Amino acid sequence: MSKSITYTLNNFQGNTGSFYADLGSFTDSILSKTDAETESFVNDFRTFIEKERIETLRSQNEYLLEFLMIGIYWWNYSGNASATKNIAKNLLKVLYIQRKKFPQYKAKIDKLRGCLAYLLLEKHRQNISESYNYHGLNSLLNWLSASGEFNEEVLRLKNWKAFCMLKNADYLSAFIKKAIRLAEKFTEEANYTLGIYVENLAEFHQKSKTDYKYREDYFFVNRSRDEYFLNMFAAEILNRELKKNFIKTSKKIVLLPTCMRKQPATFCNAKSDGKELVCTSCSDECNIGKVSSEMKKLGITSYLIPHSSDFSKFLVKWKDCQDTSLIGVACVLNLITGGYEMKRLNISSQCVFLNYCGCKKHWDKEGFPTSLNLNQLRKIVEKPVSKAESFALV
Ligand code: SF4
Repeated sequence: MSKSITYTLNNFQGNTGSFYADLGSFTDSILSKTDAETESFVNDFRTFIEKERIETLRSQNEYLLEFLMIGIYWWNYSGNASATKNIAKNLLKVLYIQRKKFPQYKAKIDKLRGCLAYLLLEKHRQNISESYNYHGLNSLLNWLSASGEFNEEVLRLKNWKAFCMLKNADYLSAFIKKAIRLAEKFTEEANYTLGIYVENLAEFHQKSKTDYKYREDYFFVNRSRDEYFLNMFAAEILNRELKKNFIKTSKKIVLLPTCMRKQPATFCNAKSDGKELVCTSCSDECNIGKVSSEMKKLGITSYLIPHSSDFSKFLVKWKDCQDTSLIGVACVLNLITGGYEMKRLNISSQCVFLNYCGCKKHWDKEGFPTSLNLNQLRKIVEKPVSKAESFALV
């Protein structure tokens, strides 16, 4: 049995027997229940994207996911957002930019950001904002941006903000209320189907609200249950939409987070191949070693990625690369960001969840090795697209 801090995809037999099947059925069910009003808002947005030539038109399901995101974030953060002054949001945004610009001061800036973010952004608002208008949406996006936790999501939601700016008050009110109701229904169904995978979350949050106070990752570790479901759903949607391009590429690379490594890390014999660290499979007990050896048999290289913040640096090297696909492996909460980032950089990709989280940086003082479902990874790299899937992807 694996340790479970916030979520685990493992069942009592210690494997992820039914998780991916449950997620597939859940996603099908949510997509099949999309009602006419939701579809009409999403279609209006797609027309706007096309007319304004904002980006190459993506699939209906990807835009539906973003509409749902607005509803979920409205539930979780609009109360805090409406109670936070603009000057505070701007100050935190500036600090976040400085952190990226001056990595040598990252640790110091993060300490300061942690304190200020808690003092300025955490208003302990349980109620949601009733400003169902452009100002309310703008305030929410500024808050999300100030937290530094939703960078890729905010990039996409800014297009929705531009769309909303052109709409009248009645349209906007109906639009935001619909997104909120969609989020409510989504969470209700997710609790029923996927709730068993996040059973420990409530207990963790009872302590994390105080234990992580003033820490830079306070808002990250306190992401709510519905955001776990949202990330799971998003990963499934993105995997389905991106599969067609993924299978076309001749080369595949798996990116494995070092939190999967057998401890202590000082014994690791991974070597650089000139680009990144490659596992030498020095230990049968190391989860990275196990995955790397299996992938090697299929001609696939596995690289070690020390932390999600290094993921961005790594990705830039593969921007617009036509013949290589990446398979990102991350814990549930990092999946939307990683998936969107690869998509923005025009990298063909798929993603696989870590079965549970356990890194030292965020979740456990000592840290313990995380793992993934090797069968799921094999399925992704080996499985050719079926007729039904290729039809759905056209
Ligand atoms: S198996 Fe690979 S990742 Fe694990 S300790 Fe050895 S070299 Fe490092």
